[in-house]
Amino acid sequence: MNRLSEEWLETDKVVLYGWGNIGEKCFPKFMEDFNIVSIIDNDPRKQGEYNGISIIGADSARSILQSNKIIVLTGGKVYKDIADSLRKMGLQENIDFCSVEVFISEWYWNKKGQNCLLEVHTAITMRCTFRCKNCNMLVPYYKEKVDYSFSEMKQMYDLFFQYVDYVFCIALLGGEPFLSPILGELIDYLGENYSDKIDVINVVSNGSVVPDDKTIEIMAKNNVLVYLSDYSSVISYQPKLMQTVEKLQKNNIKCVLRDIGEWKDFGFPIAKPVIKGSDMVEHMKTCAPIFHGLNDNKFYYCHVAWSAEKAGLYKLRDGDFVGLEDLALTEKRKLTEQALGEMESEYVSLCRLCGGCGEDNLSIIKAAIQKE
Ligand code: SF4
Repeated sequence: MNRLSEEWLETDKVVLYGWGNIGEKCFPKFMEDFNIVSIIDNDPRKQGEYNGISIIGADSARSILQSNKIIVLTGGKVYKDIADSLRKMGLQENIDFCSVEVFISEWYWNKKGQNCLLEVHTAITMRCTFRCKNCNMLVPYYKEKVDYSFSEMKQMYDLFFQYVDYVFCIALLGGEPFLSPILGELIDYLGENYSDKIDVINVVSNGSVVPDDKTIEIMAKNNVLVYLSDYSSVISYQPKLMQTVEKLQKNNIKCVLRDIGEWKDFGFPIAKPVIKGSDMVEHMKTCAPIFHGLNDNKFYYCHVAWSAEKAGLYKLRDGDFVGLEDLALTEKRKLTEQALGEMESEYVSLCRLCGGCGEDNLSIIKAAIQKE
């Protein structure tokens, strides 16, 4: 680690580049720590203003970009494209601009001694209402039911927050998280005990299970944001999905309905992926998930890798995760290194069998086709 130049530690003004859900998650904490000069986004539909900060296109922001430090609020291919456009302006990575994950990992540590992570995902049940053949969490390939108890989750998060000072987003998912009887209790616990260490809790659902009143009440109290993936063009469940949307909206719970038409075909575990011309480190960094997995008292660069082992389909190797139970407090930066893909083993071993979601995987399939 230590990619950022020393000048970053002296800066109190930043420009945010690439407006979307990552930006919204980071905005409150960044507002506390910086003067946000401007937000840059080239999509005219996003331009305007957010909380008093102007959102403008890069063409009209050339001088702003050239005279301020820039945090690029995205990862993967979009980050690469933005980085290329900034290089064309003569700007240098990690001196003039950097990715949000590098920034969060290094700046908060070097400036404030805080071990921060961007986004952490926990699967609380692997039961689901659907059996998607190409599910990236491999749900239909589990032979045994997996449901976590509240005490398992409590123990894991208590352990996790011994090492982590702040996480911008915790996403609870599955399977279908609204099938889990502990979802509300867990959100309540995280809100009661760690609200000063979490910016936002997300729930990621397919919307086929209408949450009960108690869970609704707890989600509203904790300002949970629910992402609903809409697969109703393939699976016939539109009325149930609409019931879920209506109940969330009626209770003032923010929800984002995403029409998911296509997925990348990861290949695993059905077929071997064909990744041409990439070595494995490059392949993993092209996939570049900005969210990481926390399950079974272990922290994973890649949550898919956790699920592959949990389903009994694959045996991970040392370095594919950081175990929390035996971790010394002096080793807490191992979590941040894992999040940045800087593990000793260089890449996640499952990458050899997995097409991933990077631009080197050209296999696109219709989302949510059901396994027979
Ligand atoms: S390519 Fe590697 S990092 Fe990406 S999803 Fe597959 S196993 Fe995970």
